Amino acid sequence: MVMQVVPRRMRGFISLTAHPAGCAANVAQQLAVVRGGVEGRLGNVLVLGSSTGYGLASLLASTFGLRAATLGVCFEKEPSGDKTGTAGWYNLAAVHREAEAAGLHVETINDDAFSSAVKQLVVDTVRERFGPIDLVVYSLAAPRRRGDDGTIWSSALKPIGAPYRGKGFDLRNRTVTEMEIEPATAEEVDATVKVMGGEDWAAWIDALDRAGLLADGCRTVAYSYIGPEVTAAIYRNGTIGEAKKHLEATAHELHARLQARGGGAWVSVNKAVVTQASSAIPAVPLYISMLEPVLAARGLDETVVDQIVRLFADHIGPGRTPTTDDEGRIRLDDREMTDDVQAEIARRWEAATSENLDELADVDGYFRAFNQLFGFDVDGVDESLPVETDVPLPLVVRP
Ligand code: NAD
Repeated sequence: MVMQVVPRRMRGFISLTAHPAGCAANVAQQLAVVRGGVEGRLGNVLVLGSSTGYGLASLLASTFGLRAATLGVCFEKEPSGDKTGTAGWYNLAAVHREAEAAGLHVETINDDAFSSAVKQLVVDTVRERFGPIDLVVYSLAAPRRRGDDGTIWSSALKPIGAPYRGKGFDLRNRTVTEMEIEPATAEEVDATVKVMGGEDWAAWIDALDRAGLLADGCRTVAYSYIGPEVTAAIYRNGTIGEAKKHLEATAHELHARLQARGGGAWVSVNKAVVTQASSAIPAVPLYISMLEPVLAARGLDETVVDQIVRLFADHIGPGRTPTTDDEGRIRLDDREMTDDVQAEIARRWEAATSENLDELADVDGYFRAFNQLFGFDVDGVDESLPVETDVPLPLVVRP
């Protein structure tokens, strides 16, 4: 038992603490959306990157919406002494409690998804307690990847070919800055593709296939992003964009394989949202803090879980046929990318200075959403009260 008032400790875009009650309340809010929004039934689902962001929403939609038996893989820190666990740990602890109460089957492996040993653990677990998988969701967002031989690849968030000179957002000082980021080296581009491209996604499908654990009609989806002109040099035309292009090419290869068995593989291009991963990308926090009020004013705003409910209900849920663009991608970013929304963003981006930022961007809203990722600033949670931080999470571990 470790009862304590959880202090907020942020270091740049990283929170060193997380609030268990706030994380549980976030999960409960998402669950309310899923329960009313996803229908149908599915047998077995594997979610890679299941503890936060788009992966967590996918886990909730699968388990509580489709009532599938769901296995999630994530990489979170457990609480230790008076050190809190990470938000993903507390999110999943809440998911497990809710699933148990509802009589639903969810299991979690908290270990490095890039490794062959964890792929084997998933294969063994699926064989013993699940059965062939009907849907694989690939939602890893990682800063680095470790190979089985110990090689480390680190992803870079840099432009390619020419330096980026443009606007940025200094979170701590709440100011608009002029940033200059030197272009990536060829090695940095390759490493980013290695971490965030499609190689590992394909390795997961191969591992399940070799073990005979892909159900007939198995579908798989991985998440991508394209984004606007104002972040193109950093995002789509940068190192991470190269990785996303590789992910999309991988979807075509996997689709050809799975389609022959009645299934398919797709990339879903999702909207920009505040997550741990997106907060680390230069220029993106400033963009999101402009995007949200522009979408809200047009009635087009959606949360992470709204997006995933739409993905399941309209595209990849049982009996649904995905609608795709010319390149075979599902486009959940359609509302973000309308000409009207993007023209307004471009106008605000051009005009933004530290002085007028609050008129052009919802900076407070961005901070609130960022804090909420870690269970802070959550409605109905009194942070001045002590809470139990040594929260258990039942895990499947290597023998
Ligand atoms: P996130 O940071 O919220 O979640 C990342 C997940 O990956 C967590 O569950 C984490 O535990 C897990 N993870 C990281 N490294 C791991 C490892 N080595 N082994 C096992 N698990 C590991 O990220 P997110 O923003 O939800 O991103 C998920 C995907 O969605 C990414 O492909 C991202 O590019 C894409 N996407 C994000 C946005 C956005 O704005 N956030 C928009 C469109 C697409």
